[in-house]
Amino acid sequence: MERTKAAIAKTLALQWFSTTAQVAKVQVGGIMALIVQKYGGTSVGSVERIQAVAQRVIKTVRAGNSLVVVVSAMGKTTDGLVKLAHEISATPNRREMDMLLSTGEQVSIALLSMALQEMGQPAISMTGAQVGIVTEAEHTRARILSIETERMQRHLREGRVVVVAGFQGVASHADLEITTLGRGGSDTSAVALAAALKASACEIYTDVPGILTTDPRLVPDAQLMAEITSDEMLELASLGAKVLHPRAVEIARNYGVTLVVRSSWSDDPGTKVVSPIPQPRPLQGLEIAHPVDAIEFDTDQAKVAMLRVPDRPGIAARLFGEIARQSLDVDLIIQSIHEGNTNDIAFTVRKNSLNRAEAVAAAIAPALRNDADPTSGEAEVMVERHIAKVSIAGAGMIGRPGVAAQMFSTLAAAGINIQMISTSEVKISCAVAAEDCDRAIAALCDVFQVNSSPASGHHAEAATSDLPPVRGAALDLRQAQLAIRHVPDRPGMAAKIFTLLADCNISVDMIIQSQRCRLVDGVATRDIAFTVAQQDAEEARTLLQKAADEWGHGEVTVDPAIAKVSIVGTGMVGRPGIAARMFEAIAQQQINIQMIATSEIKISCVVPEAEGVRALQVIHAAFDLSGNEAIVVPA
Ligand code: ADP
Ligand code: ASP
Ligand code: MG
Repeated sequence: MERTKAAIAKTLALQWFSTTAQVAKVQVGGIMALIVQKYGGTSVGSVERIQAVAQRVIKTVRAGNSLVVVVSAMGKTTDGLVKLAHEISATPNRREMDMLLSTGEQVSIALLSMALQEMGQPAISMTGAQVGIVTEAEHTRARILSIETERMQRHLREGRVVVVAGFQGVASHADLEITTLGRGGSDTSAVALAAALKASACEIYTDVPGILTTDPRLVPDAQLMAEITSDEMLELASLGAKVLHPRAVEIARNYGVTLVVRSSWSDDPGTKVVSPIPQPRPLQGLEIAHPVDAIEFDTDQAKVAMLRVPDRPGIAARLFGEIARQSLDVDLIIQSIHEGNTNDIAFTVRKNSLNRAEAVAAAIAPALRNDADPTSGEAEVMVERHIAKVSIAGAGMIGRPGVAAQMFSTLAAAGINIQMISTSEVKISCAVAAEDCDRAIAALCDVFQVNSSPASGHHAEAATSDLPPVRGAALDLRQAQLAIRHVPDRPGMAAKIFTLLADCNISVDMIIQSQRCRLVDGVATRDIAFTVAQQDAEEARTLLQKAADEWGHGEVTVDPAIAKVSIVGTGMVGRPGIAARMFEAIAQQQINIQMIATSEIKISCVVPEAEGVRALQVIHAAFDLSGNEAIVVPA
């Protein structure tokens, strides 16, 4: 991931500059600015806290601003409602779930409006339906289609503060059904309102001072960041940092909303989420238009695979430590689980680094003998000189599993075999044979209706930026790992598998195919492993197991006891050794890495669930992310 990044860093630096300039302009000319503020559950968790929020709102109004305030349900109300539902049914009806969960926010909007009125500030509360936050008819995970602004504008003109219920909307084409956006969705409501109202800023008030290098509940000396790019935040949010809903970041990035995350308990500036200046886009179809913005390709890639490396702590650290000492830039890295007790690790480098990378791998292979199974022999090194990386990119892919599936089916229809897959929230990359590259691009451009461009940084030298290589770390304990054994190695298998899951709305992450082919009844097969949300794991397993006879694959196994630890940073661009440092920190704790997947600006490792928190803590320390003061999170 190191080498395609210099240009990304440069572009981001430029975008950063122009966004900062834009913010400054708003402030200079800012008489009667329209601001959207959002207060989370803890911030409105009691009568006293609601009154404190009212005071802050009034202060902002007195400074000459119009205000739309979005609130969450009080404290842990939503969790309590979910629990109630599960006491009645193990699989509650999703429509009724929305009916139930949307009540939490209705309580807090009414109480906040009363508090404002009590303090002499005219205010009116509105539900999502009253505002006209129109969503898809997908209960419990609806996306926003459009927002009517006229009613809110009228109240604002009349001097009222408009208090809007977060997390909810209405499906207008389906009998005015009440919908919710998914847990944590009030952030998304707020940013979407800011985009629709063309507000000068969206301020998210929460129980921590802003966006921190990691979750302070797990790592108390996590440090506040003054700024973070929306790309970095998108990755962090989707890798488990709960502080912002990923879809909120997506909307901010797509519409250029000025977004800050701040503490409800202080006047400190918090963290600014910086987005590039976006292409103008219509507000209609707000969360659903254009999932893919660009097709990128990179033909200057070669692959090194090490087969049959022992499955024990320290192997990845050793291999990539040596690669880093040779200053070789590694792009994609994947490590898959495999039957028995050996793994495959594969990575891509620039073509002119291939010989050196191969030599490093060959030199350490003899040392990687699998002690547990002396018959397995030493690790084997395999290289592929001519490969290309083809990627689809776009913030609109988040939580939309059909997009990845569509990429795989498009490649399959063109008869192209996928050698490696690497996923992130905003990009899916496939390594394919170099001779297939042009056809892959043409087919993808056609399907997604966008133009192609060489991957940023294709000819870039080392990064010039002085950004720290890693901005933040995240832990996700809510994923499960699935493995499908002996999947026939032919074009179209990935497409079939992920289309099946996408049709049931199951999002997949960290897709990895083993590098080794194994002959089963004369058919070349590979194993495919991936992670899904724990709640989807059993359904995914059942679906895939049912397809086994028809598709010819073997057993499907689930491991729910995993943790995914990740590091994120645009500054990884052009800096060899970042992956090695992460793997080394984990190895020193004798923690085994079960899977590795990287994208340009992130590296994720799957480790045993019980080791997740410790892995996060050592990674955080290894990249010097700690601050001097412990962050105290109020109850
Ligand atoms: P709210 O109710 O205000 O929406 P959330 O609980 O959804 O608040 O999100 C805030 C919480 O996110 C924090 O209390 C913190 O524990 C957690 N968190 C996880 N990762 C981070 C991070 N990188 N920075 C800040 N907070 C984080
Ligand atoms: N109250 C909802 C939840 O707890 C939405 C939110 O707080 O953002 O998920
Ligand atoms: Mg939240």
